[in-house]
Amino acid sequence: MSYSGSCQCGAVKFQINSELTDIVYCHCSMCRKMSGSAFLAFGSVEHEKLQLQGLSSISTYSANTGATRSFCSKCGSTLFWQQNGIYGLKYKCIAIGSLDTNFTPNEWQHYYTSCKATWFSINDGKRQYRETS
Ligand SMILES: [Zn+2]
Ligand SMILES: [Zn+2]
Repeated sequence: MSYSGSCQCGAVKFQINSELTDIVYCHCSMCRKMSGSAFLAFGSVEHEKLQLQGLSSISTYSANTGATRSFCSKCGSTLFWQQNGIYGLKYKCIAIGSLDTNFTPNEWQHYYTSCKATWFSINDGKRQYRETS
């Protein structure tokens, strides 16, 4: 399977040449800030399966929470984030809202429901973790 994605203005485009794994709807405060919404939905892809165009328009921000966020420096769209630990050496996490290809995950999990926005309700019956799994 392959997927394409882009930022809102189109300066950054990317192609994923694999299935996305480990689909998470993360409700932590960092993901709420990154998305500007109730949660950030992301899936993982191995670095070598991701092809990026428009690298010069990608800015990064390292929070003190052990992750680096990538976003378009022109339009501000959240695109990726990467853990600074072992997982991040192999995988990049893709904000699945940035995909242009239709994507329907079969399975996903909710992380950091302890930080969930009070104005959002989880009603999908999926597994919830107060922090991570
Ligand atoms: Zn952009
Ligand atoms: Zn999060």
